[in-house]
Amino acid sequence: MLGLSDERTPVTDTQAAEAAMADALAGAAELGASLAKYSWVGVGGPADVLVIAHDRETLVKAVRVARELGLPWRVYGGLTNILVPDSGLRGAIILNRTRATNFEAGGRLVADAGAIVVKVAREAIEKGWGGLTWAVGLPGTIGGAVVNNAGAFGGEISRVLVAADVLAPGGDLERVTVDWFGFQYRCSKLKGAGERWVVLGAEFQLHPADPARLRAKADEYIERRQKGQPPGRTLGSTFKNPPGDYAGRLIDAAGLKGTRYGGIRISDHHANFFINDGEGTAADFRALVERVQSEVFARFGVRLEPEIEMLPEEPPDQPRARYQRSVGS
Ligand SMILES: Cc1cc2nc3c(=O)[nH]c(=O)nc-3n(C[C@H](O)[C@H](O)[C@H](O)COP(=O)(O)OP(=O)(O)OC[C@H]3O[C@@H](n4cnc5c(N)ncnc54)[C@H](O)[C@@H]3O)c2cc1C
Repeated sequence: MLGLSDERTPVTDTQAAEAAMADALAGAAELGASLAKYSWVGVGGPADVLVIAHDRETLVKAVRVARELGLPWRVYGGLTNILVPDSGLRGAIILNRTRATNFEAGGRLVADAGAIVVKVAREAIEKGWGGLTWAVGLPGTIGGAVVNNAGAFGGEISRVLVAADVLAPGGDLERVTVDWFGFQYRCSKLKGAGERWVVLGAEFQLHPADPARLRAKADEYIERRQKGQPPGRTLGSTFKNPPGDYAGRLIDAAGLKGTRYGGIRISDHHANFFINDGEGTAADFRALVERVQSEVFARFGVRLEPEIEMLPEEPPDQPRARYQRSVGS
């Protein structure tokens, strides 16, 4: 039973479906929860239904229930690379926090897609397995790293990935191998497809290495990040580097370092990083992206392409203020 009072009675079929979803996933779901506190850059409006999946069963169930109820749904990991719109996101937003990992003999690593990359990379180092050391400072989850083909310091997730377990659009579990992903620079065929396919887990092949040497390498990478990247709430590199050049260099050369819209500013430290000073909005972020694109194009004839996923505003059909409540409250 929904157990809603008159005041909270759903007013549309969609809202009834959202309430039914929250009931079906009681304990893991919340209606109208703000996504700003989950997004790395700290902006974004509410999810109609936010599901936090701590185990595979809940993750798969959330997708199945959303499908059955006809709700749109999407799976995210750490939201480290997503600009969540101020309007929030419609339907079910499922955050994957399935964290299990298993290091097997011979350097096979099996990890849930929700495992934190930084922790997995550190564990690999301590166990004497090389191949993921470049990822010691990479925010986000294994699933996000696979979908984005994340990489740094010459390493890339697609080079160590062997296979993955995915949930297909029809609801079947499939095991796919690395070629299936169609990897390109910071991209795979699943980027932006988190409403059709879900990565449940991934399998990697690592190689034996001396932990002390891996540790020293990791320290070097962390130091390079600390020197090269500004602290604060960001989405990492905002734009892809254009062929033969660097987005940060072009933005700097256009005299845009320090430019601010509302609470979002271009870092003085590295011009490809946009920082939220605390009160920033997705609209501020987007305005800054557009300003940079138009000025860099006007000055250098180069069209900068976002590396981040900027999700469009999705205004709700109905006023929802009276509908916001936590499940069970
Ligand atoms: C400070 C900072 C530094 C960064 N440095 C780097 C860097 O050096 N190199 C680099 O490559 N990136 C970097 N990034 C970007 C980001 O960390 C990576 O892209 C990361 O791999 C994204 O992981 P995530 O879990 O946060 O994914 P999310 O941002 O949550 O999602 C990204 C995409 O993956 C999809 N997705 C996530 N999980 C699943 C799943 N289980 N199944 C299906 N689809 C899924 C989402 O739908 C979305 O399309 C940086 C970001 C920040 C904030």
